[in-house]
Order: sequence, then C-alpha cells, then structure tokens
Amino acid sequence: MKDSFLHKGLRKKLVDEISKKGITDSKILDAIMNIPRHLFLDNAFINFAYQDKAFPIGSGQTISQPYTVAFQTQLLDLKPYQKILEIGTGSGYQAAVLKELKLDVYTIERHKDLFKKTKEFLPSIGYECMFIYGDGYKGLPKFAPFDKILITCGAPRIPEQLIKQLKIGGKMVVPVGEGDTQRMHLIEKISDNENKISTHGEFSFVPMLENRVDND
Ligand code: SAH
Repeated sequence: MKDSFLHKGLRKKLVDEISKKGITDSKILDAIMNIPRHLFLDNAFINFAYQDKAFPIGSGQTISQPYTVAFQTQLLDLKPYQKILEIGTGSGYQAAVLKELKLDVYTIERHKDLFKKTKEFLPSIGYECMFIYGDGYKGLPKFAPFDKILITCGAPRIPEQLIKQLKIGGKMVVPVGEGDTQRMHLIEKISDNENKISTHGEFSFVPMLENRVDND
C-alpha cells in the first residue's frame, strides 16, 4: 500500500478539521499532513484512516485520535532536537509526529507484540527512534533527564517517578484518571521540589498498566 493523491486529499481534510478544533501550530498540522496514517492501521480499517477517530491496532490497543495526538503535542511546546520520552509507543503514530518535528525520540511500550511490530515498521517509513520494551512507570533513568515526557495512556495518578526524569524547566503531559475518561494534565518542573500543574479538558485513553510487561 503506497501513499496516493487520494490519501493526500483525505489528509488535507483531516488537517482542516483538526485546525478548526483549535490546533493552531502550523508545524504540527504540517506533520499530520506529511504522515501516511493509513499505513498505521490494519487493512480492514484503511477507509477510516483519515477520520478524526481512534482505531484498533490489534492486541486490544488503539491508535490515538489525531486531534488528541495534536493536542498533547501542542501542550508540550516542542523545539527541534529536544529529547523526549513517550510512554505507550502503540502504533508509532505519535512518535512519527514527534520525528516530523525533529525531536530526539525515546519511546517505551509494555506490549511485546506491539513493541516488535512498531520497532520494525516506523524506521521502514523513515522514522528512527529509540524503541524500548518495558514498563513506562519506571521511565528511562539511563537516558534521563528529558526535556519533555509524553504519556499516551491513562494514568490512575500523576507518575511522580517520571517527574524526577525531567530537566528543570521541562514539561510532561499526562492524562490522569481511572474511569472511562481522563483529565489532561500539564506538569512544568520549576525546580527539584516544585511543579506547576494545569489541566486541559477530558479525553479517553487506554489504561497505563503497572508492573505488567507481557503479551495480554
Ligand atoms: N502513542 C500511541 C497510542 C497507543 S495507546 C499511538 O500513537 O498509537 C497506549 C499504549 O500504551 C498501548 O500500546 C499500551 O500497550 C501502552 N501502555 C500501557 N501501559 C503502559 C506502560 N506501563 N508502559 C508502557 N506502555 C504502556
């Protein structure tokens, strides 16, 4: 399956839709315009690739809604060459957006099959990242500190351990909540013992699972 004019046309409509919903950063809109999202979905869902919706990617997981991806990305105020840690690699779509923005991307996935699939797939379409199989709650102390941390699954509470792996002045975005919806939190690390926390609306994510690095 290649990228075609048809796909590009559908992508343009998606970008218009997302910008109407409030995404104003042109670099993020350009990233969405450039990424062939249809290649991230199972063939059965190919016709849905450019709707602004989340979709199943196998193993009971989802590829996030493009608007949500853009919203989290926009909150982080990213600059080229910053070092970012993503928790929940999933399909790799969010990681591709980060690569389009020229970031240095470290991404963790706890699900073995998804990890293997995306580690092969993303570089095959030009997006090189550091892929790690493991538990996102632990972060990546070996590569810390990070300028930014982006959590793409719903955390029951703010993962304090990860704030320790942020640079002073760094930012973390995390959807927090245990039910069907989570409240988007932006955490700015002011000093080693002071953070500024703000919230940014309700979203729906698959849960961030703790102490579970396996195949279910
Ligand atoms: N960023 C992804 C979104 C995938 S959904 C994309 O763009 O497609 C969230 C992902 O988080 C799932 O793949 C799930 O397996 C993973 N996940 C859940 N808990 C995790 C944890 N503790 N550590 C790492 N990954 C986790």
